[in-house]
Amino acid sequence: LIGVIGGGQLGRMLGLAGIALGHEFRFLEPSPHPPAAAVGDVVAIEYDDPTAVDAFVEGCEVVTYEFENVPVDAARRIATRVPVWPPPAALAAAQDRLTEKELFRRAGVPTPQFVPVDSSDELASALSAIGDAVVKTRREGYDGKGQTTAARDDDADPIWNRLGEVPLLVEERVPFERELSLLAVRGRDGATTFYPLVENVHRDGILRVSYAPAGGASSGLQVDAERYGKALLDELAYVGVLAIEFFQRNGGLLANEIAPRVHNSGHWTIDGAICSQFENHLRAVLGLPLGPASTIGDSVMVNFIGSVPDLRALLQVPRAHVHLYSKAARPGRKLGHVTLVDADTSAVETVLALAGAGSFLPRAPGTWS
Ligand code: AMP
Repeated sequence: LIGVIGGGQLGRMLGLAGIALGHEFRFLEPSPHPPAAAVGDVVAIEYDDPTAVDAFVEGCEVVTYEFENVPVDAARRIATRVPVWPPPAALAAAQDRLTEKELFRRAGVPTPQFVPVDSSDELASALSAIGDAVVKTRREGYDGKGQTTAARDDDADPIWNRLGEVPLLVEERVPFERELSLLAVRGRDGATTFYPLVENVHRDGILRVSYAPAGGASSGLQVDAERYGKALLDELAYVGVLAIEFFQRNGGLLANEIAPRVHNSGHWTIDGAICSQFENHLRAVLGLPLGPASTIGDSVMVNFIGSVPDLRALLQVPRAHVHLYSKAARPGRKLGHVTLVDADTSAVETVLALAGAGSFLPRAPGTWS
């Protein structure tokens, strides 16, 4: 029995991979009818209720998590009862943008310039030092929430106010060429493996499309990414899948953020890699040998955001692998995705159009056949 904190679509896809390996699942998830309910039991408890936590861990051989805002203290408490992987220290590092940046520096991973600020006055001086900036709340930002762009001469007060008068990080605004991510895996024995760099296209801070492998990524870029990935995995004594998001700038990489879990930019691996990120995460946390992270073809993954295209139309596209999460439709919500492996350009364009992502082809049509 594997315990998973969180019961969203990532939990559901972990369950699908783990059931194939003969495992059962229990999810800790307070919301009613979560996506993971299809693949295991769900317990809805309060993290700070010790008897309820007992009920969650009872019989679990390992506990993992599928979202990064798990309270670190709760993860540490659970870890006194049953192994918790990835290590709760990775959660702590990822939950605060400042500790995340400090981790990058410690591990020798390049990252955009930044200044932490704790007041409107400090924000004003950070803006005048940095110039064009992205101002982010240190905690609880995701999918582009809790952040705004700002310029050198902007008035600091309204920005400080709008972001909630909480500790912030002011980052240089990077004129990046594109966004890439790396999925890195480390086993309990320290073995590592890396998926190829993926190119990600966002809109409104939400991932829309991933292209795997990233077109035109030189072997040098992959080598750099893996070196940074390995440094982070080792620094955290990590076990499981770690996602690292990068900006590509002047042909080099700058780390933006990490997610200590399976990641949306790795969904293509279910259909397009020999061993998926979900299976490899489970192999890692269970102390099993890691599987090959190599591709079986070029994949395009398109998210369904806010609504799901007509299933019949999708399934008419040759090679379309459709994954739906059984979630109620709501604007900005991730409801499912489709992956095409080794598809021709017209199939890719059809799927992009069906998913309302038609203008997000990152390169000239014709390069995908
Ligand atoms: P984040 O929440 O840090 O992943 O930011 C969400 C999105 O905002 C990223 O995927 C980028 O597209 C953009 N972004 C974040 N930080 C920066 C930055 N320092 N420079 C330019 N764009 C950024």
